Amino acid sequence: THFGFETVAEALKEQRVRGVFSSVASSYDSMNDFMSLGIHRLWKDHFVRNLNPGRNPLTSPLADQKGWNILDIAGGTGDIAFRMLDHASHINNDAHTNVTVADINPDMLAEGKKRSLQTPYARSPRLRFVEANAEKLDMIPDGSIDLYTVAFGIRNFTHKDVALKEAYRVLKPGGVFACLEFSKVENPLFNAVYQQWSFNAIPYIGQMVAGDKASYQYLVESIARFPSQEEFSGMIRDAGFLIPGKGYENLTDGIAAIHKGVKP
Ligand code: SAM
Repeated sequence: THFGFETVAEALKEQRVRGVFSSVASSYDSMNDFMSLGIHRLWKDHFVRNLNPGRNPLTSPLADQKGWNILDIAGGTGDIAFRMLDHASHINNDAHTNVTVADINPDMLAEGKKRSLQTPYARSPRLRFVEANAEKLDMIPDGSIDLYTVAFGIRNFTHKDVALKEAYRVLKPGGVFACLEFSKVENPLFNAVYQQWSFNAIPYIGQMVAGDKASYQYLVESIARFPSQEEFSGMIRDAGFLIPGKGYENLTDGIAAIHKGVKP
């Protein structure tokens, strides 16, 4: 049946995504550095600074006394989580804000746990890792999260609309959905160069750095298939979120973008 085909295709996609991230887990940082010329670190710093996590009565009077409950979906190697905890601790003097890192891939989580040993948050109740699919977060209660983040993850999800609904379910009223993801370059000239870089250089760099051309080819194609800034903002709205201002901020002319939604 049609349904049968769809299910097989979806299962294959999920398996493919799993394989890609298992095979890149240990070379994940070098991969990101090569693909973005190191800029992904600046984007992540900006993403976290802009969200300003942590209880700070001046900037976030609604956060409760215990700090923020942050859920970092597709959090893999902990890149966003460690930055969130550092920001809450050092900028907002908040030692209570906690982050749950959820990822579908146990190899990425294992890499994240290993890295956490180099941070002050290893074995701290402020940081936990859970294996979970963004489309089915059964272990996270309704209305329990202050900030839901997903960085460079959502384009890999099979049903983005279902994941957005789950984000909406787990957030508290007033809670924020924030997504950092590759997007569409706005300047046509810059875009021509960027497309050359993506399709002609990145798979070969992947071959050289990780000996794995196919995974990098998949990553480039998944970026090209991801909806435009406006379309993605519309999907966030369709899940029930209020869209603050324009709804997104372009980074490096739209190579990446930050999208936000607020649960009413
Ligand atoms: N957020 C991290 C960062 O910015 O460095 C990791 C991003 S990595 C490109 C994408 C992650 O999404 C992988 O760790 C992968 O396992 C995870 N992922 C893919 N599909 C998922 C799903 N349905 N639910 C949860 N995580 C998923």
